[in-house]
Amino acid sequence: MDRPALPDPCADWLDSLDEAALHRALHERVEAAFQLCREMHAHLPRPRVWLDLRGQCAGQAHFGRAGLRFNPVLLRENRQAFFVDVVPHEMAHWLVHHLEQGDRMRPHGHEWRTVMRQLFGLPARVTHRFDTRHASPAPYRYRCACREHAFTARRHALARGGRVYRCRECAQTLVYQSLELVSI
Ligand SMILES: [Zn+2]
Ligand SMILES: [Zn+2]
Repeated sequence: MDRPALPDPCADWLDSLDEAALHRALHERVEAAFQLCREMHAHLPRPRVWLDLRGQCAGQAHFGRAGLRFNPVLLRENRQAFFVDVVPHEMAHWLVHHLEQGDRMRPHGHEWRTVMRQLFGLPARVTHRFDTRHASPAPYRYRCACREHAFTARRHALARGGRVYRCRECAQTLVYQSLELVSI
């Protein structure tokens, strides 16, 4: 694996930004990722950028609107992950889509993975463990023998406090696993 092509941002600096400065910094990060893609594809159009995604989706390349969308709630609570991973991830979709026959390529297929690894110097990950406590209504994942269960913050607090929850199907006690895994 190569080193990341975009330098990792300083975590203290990122944490110090207020909402407006954070959004400006995100736009600058998108521009840096775009300039990198331009080295590979000189006529790549510049995507527009919106911070209007809601729910459990971190980012999205929206070709109909000709731009990239990002989730401001997840951004606020996962700044480093957005700068290091989510921006290159969506920009790689943007680039691949504009390659010849790009609209026929699979979203996380060979071309996309190649852009992630060789252009951005990053692992080609498609999910990320984000802090979803404020972005998702039920972000806590519990398991029984048969499936996964989604808990709200209130239920999670009760379970942490000692209340036992059982699965209605298999009757096993539910065990906390992790926060929800988010697709990027
Ligand atoms: Zn079960
Ligand atoms: Zn993707």
